Amino acid sequence: MLRSVTRAVFGLAVTTAAAVSSGVFAQGAASPADLVKDAAVRAAIDGAKASEAQTIEDQIRFCEIPAPSFKEEVRGRELQRVFQQLGLQNVRVDKAGNVLGDYAGASARPRVVMAAHLDTVFPEGTNVKVKRESAVLHGPGIGDDCRGLAVIVAAVREMKKAKVQTPGTITFVANVGEEGLGDLRGVKELFNSTLKDQIDRFVSIDGTGIHVTNVAVGSHRYRVTFSGPGGHSFGAFGMANPMGAMGRAIAKIQEIQVPKQPKTTFNVGRIGGGTSVNSIPFDGWMELDMRSSDPASLAAVDANIQKAIDAAVAEENARWGKPGVITVKKELVGDRPAGSTPENSPIVKDGLAVATVLGFNANLGEGSTDSNMPMSLHVPAITVGGGGRGHDAHALTESFDTTDAWQGTQYAILLAVSLAQK
Ligand SMILES: [Zn+2]
Repeated sequence: MLRSVTRAVFGLAVTTAAAVSSGVFAQGAASPADLVKDAAVRAAIDGAKASEAQTIEDQIRFCEIPAPSFKEEVRGRELQRVFQQLGLQNVRVDKAGNVLGDYAGASARPRVVMAAHLDTVFPEGTNVKVKRESAVLHGPGIGDDCRGLAVIVAAVREMKKAKVQTPGTITFVANVGEEGLGDLRGVKELFNSTLKDQIDRFVSIDGTGIHVTNVAVGSHRYRVTFSGPGGHSFGAFGMANPMGAMGRAIAKIQEIQVPKQPKTTFNVGRIGGGTSVNSIPFDGWMELDMRSSDPASLAAVDANIQKAIDAAVAEENARWGKPGVITVKKELVGDRPAGSTPENSPIVKDGLAVATVLGFNANLGEGSTDSNMPMSLHVPAITVGGGGRGHDAHALTESFDTTDAWQGTQYAILLAVSLAQK
C-alpha cells in the first residue's frame, strides 16, 4: 500500500440490527452483531486466534517467494495451490496473473471480493529471507502485503473448517500489480474484464493494523520529454533549447494554485537529459506526479500542468524566433484513479461495526490502494489492515510485530461474512 493518513472518526455509527428472527442467515440482513452470535461464524472467529501460528507460517512462506511487480507468477502459483488445497471452487488465474477462488454461497450474488496483493516494491535479487526475533518478523514485504495474503488464506481455512454458510458468494483474490509501477494493473483487469460488472463489494486487505480506508487518493504520473535539433553551444547559439523550455515549464508549474481541501498536490521529481556542457541539448526530460482524492481536482491540476508545459514550449520557441523547433511529448506513466466510499455507506458502516463488535478500534483513513479502482467506478469498496503492527513498509528493514495479529484474521472473517449477506 502507499502512504495513508488516518483521521479520527467521531460519533461512530454502529449498524443496528433490524428485527432479528431465528436463524440469522435465513433473515438475510444480519448485522455483524448478529452474525458474531452464529455458531459457525463464532467457531471460525475462535479458530482464527487458535491457528495464528499457522497463519504466521504461511505469511513467512509467501514472503520468501520473490514477487516484484510484473514478476508475481511464482508466488501466485503458491496461492493457487493453497486455494485449491483449501477447497475453494473455480480456482483460476486470469490474463493479468490474478489468482481467484470462490467461496460459494447460496447464490452467486451479492459477490464480495476479498483481495490481497501479491507484488512487492523490491526488485529481483532482493534477499527476502525472513528473520524472526521473538514476536517480530523482519523481511521485505512481510507486512505489505504478505500479511494480507496470509489473512485471506486463514479466513478461507477457518470458514471452511467451521462450515460457515453465506447467502452471497465470496471470491478470494491474490492480485498482481498494486505497487508503484504495477499501476493497479491487477484490479484494473479484475474490474474491466475478469469479473466485469460482477463485483458488488470489494475489500482489499493491505498492510497491517486495524483500519478502514474509504478515501482513494488518485494520482497521475508523467514523463515529459522536450526535444530539438541541438547543436554546438557557441557555433549554433540562437537555437531554441529543450532545457530552456523545460525550465520555463517547471517555473510555471511551481506557480499553479491547488485546493487545500480536498488536498491536491504536484511535484516535479526528476529531471535529466543533455549531451555535454558545451552542447545545446537535443533533449531534456522530467518526471512529475500529481495527487488528489477528488477526481475533479486531479483533472484540473492535470489540465493546468499540460497548459503550462505547452505555453513554456511556445515561449522558448518565440524567444529564439524558431517556431515549432522544440517539441514536447507527454507520456502518462501512472494513473491511479481517485474516488471515495461515503462514510454513511453500508460497507464503511460494516467495516467500523465489525471492529466494534470484536472489541477492536478502527479509524477511517485515506490512501492509495487497490480500492482506488472500484471507488472510481462507484463500486462499494474499502481497504483494511491485516492486524499486527507493521514498520518500514517499502524499505529493506520492513518488519511485522505479530502481537495479537490474529485480530486481523478475525476482522477479515466477520467482515467477509457480513458483506456476503443480502
Ligand atoms: Zn500494499
